Amino acid sequence: MQDWDSIHLEGMGWLGSLIAHELTLREIPFTWNELLPADGWIPTAWQASSGLIYPSGDVQSIDGYRLWERVHACGHMLPYLSRSEFWYTTKAHPNGLRTAPVSTHGPFNQSPFPAFSVDVAKFVRFSRELHWNSRTSTVRKGPRVQLIKAHSHPVRWAWGWTAPAIVMFAGLPSMVPAATFYMRANKYQLFYAVYRHGGPAHVIGSAHIGQQKPKAYTPDEVFRKVMDFQTKVEAISEGMLKIALTGAPVQGWRPMGNETDPRPGVYDDGVMLMPAMGSSGVRHALPLLQNVMAALGCESTLKICEPTDFITPLS
Ligand SMILES: Cc1cc2nc3c(=O)[nH]c(=O)nc-3n(C[C@H](O)[C@H](O)[C@H](O)COP(=O)(O)OP(=O)(O)OC[C@H]3O[C@@H](n4cnc5c(N)ncnc54)[C@H](O)[C@@H]3O)c2cc1C
Repeated sequence: MQDWDSIHLEGMGWLGSLIAHELTLREIPFTWNELLPADGWIPTAWQASSGLIYPSGDVQSIDGYRLWERVHACGHMLPYLSRSEFWYTTKAHPNGLRTAPVSTHGPFNQSPFPAFSVDVAKFVRFSRELHWNSRTSTVRKGPRVQLIKAHSHPVRWAWGWTAPAIVMFAGLPSMVPAATFYMRANKYQLFYAVYRHGGPAHVIGSAHIGQQKPKAYTPDEVFRKVMDFQTKVEAISEGMLKIALTGAPVQGWRPMGNETDPRPGVYDDGVMLMPAMGSSGVRHALPLLQNVMAALGCESTLKICEPTDFITPLS
């Protein structure tokens, strides 16, 4: 028997929306609050997040990837979740996965495993709208209220940008519309074009700039970075990727933590804090969500969903 009556979510960005989604599926009531314009500017990640879940070789990422695969197969989170082919320009498969490509076109190799991606901004906006009536102006506290601080507590930030775009892969007759591209100029420079169904078909992005104090760039500065992206991608892809921007670039700040971060799913005095998850807040979100639900004494819907079309599991 639970010893609480209801839940309050402080923050309705990516993690807040994901927890809200899970609570709704479990029919658990909750309230939430967000910062108001009067609270001043606060850097956030969700508007700019590319939401990519790529196939990867480390244990934590495989756990997350398998759960996303399951959610996709069950149709949960459609239409915010996409699946696409994963093409890369590095010699070895990115992120430590030891596997050979299934096909090659020019500088691109195709992974045997698909990528998944979440349209994070669309999902957050939908979630805020859906739960508008449960919004409160401040944090709701009380002896029988479980408070989930659904925003991270960063010690520094990693700035980045993304922009909506249409990307065409000129190397193949079908132009592979449902494909995600992962390109590296060198160890430090990564460029990606992540597929999203429902359009605009891709989101492009690149930078990962460390900031102790969050700082926004001027629109001109960001636009120069986008131009640089296009020049570099033209060279890396040997002219095979054609990119047309369909909207303005958006800036975002990845919350970066350290080893003193709170452990997720652990309550202290009726308060649960979410960790800062850097560049992996989407990739690693589902194991975290399971911890949150377990801490509330509820089974996660991720366990009860029955997938129908599993692909070959990662080894
Ligand atoms: C450019 C970019 C690309 C990225 N790409 C990927 C990717 O491909 N794959 C991946 O896995 N991850 C990616 N990430 C990271 C991922 O988006 C983040 O890890 C994730 O969004 C963090 O979720 P969050 O809820 O902690 O923070 P946010 O999504 O930033 O949400 C925090 C929310 O809490 C609110 N808030 C803050 N303080 C308070 C307060 N005191 N009271 C009330 N509300 C508060 C904020 O207003 C905001 O709405 C990317 C991030 C960026 C910026």
